[in-house]
Amino acid sequence: MIRIHHKVRKATVLGPGVRYVVWVQGCMQRCPGCVSPQAQPMDGGTEMPVDALVEDILSTDGIEGITISGGEPFLQAAALVRLIDALRARRDLGVIVYTGCLLEDLQSDQPAGAAELLSRIDLLIDGPYVDELNDDGALRGSSNQRVIPLTKRYTGAVADYGVPGGRKTELMFTADGFFLTGVPSVATRRLIRMSRGEVDEA
Ligand code: SF4
Repeated sequence: MIRIHHKVRKATVLGPGVRYVVWVQGCMQRCPGCVSPQAQPMDGGTEMPVDALVEDILSTDGIEGITISGGEPFLQAAALVRLIDALRARRDLGVIVYTGCLLEDLQSDQPAGAAELLSRIDLLIDGPYVDELNDDGALRGSSNQRVIPLTKRYTGAVADYGVPGGRKTELMFTADGFFLTGVPSVATRRLIRMSRGEVDEA
């Protein structure tokens, strides 16, 4: 089983090409200003069989790969290893992962199972979100976060990360509101936090 916060079948704002995006549920980092606080509780979200997620991804036409965000993906490393292996047994999909952990800890297998998951990732964006270092750079939340190619698949895309003013988001309306995909600009983040009552209108 895998516990997920949300999934979007086709997104163009979280990596090269069209991507299936999975936000896993559960994170212990508690970064101040986290844009997805609903994804933090370990018992939130929805549990689903890994095989069901595999089939949903493989039934999505035209995707180049998947992007996994959260929540903290490495807290569900074993399930994600099973997911990626099952996908790649049937289709050549690229894998991009956003994590609040540091590469050096993951290489030391912290949290448990991290090293095995790391070996299956093409591009890693690492490090916690730091509100004071949010510089509006494209495709990552704050300037401390590193964009690390772990294979050659996305080396040509690394230059797209951190481009000033280059953030893009996609808005999807759902039955109970809306869902925003992508790294929101500083201005959009402020609107989101105002809608949650976290900051006053100005
Ligand atoms: S690591 Fe990501 S999901 Fe976890 S608290 Fe920080 S910003 Fe939020």
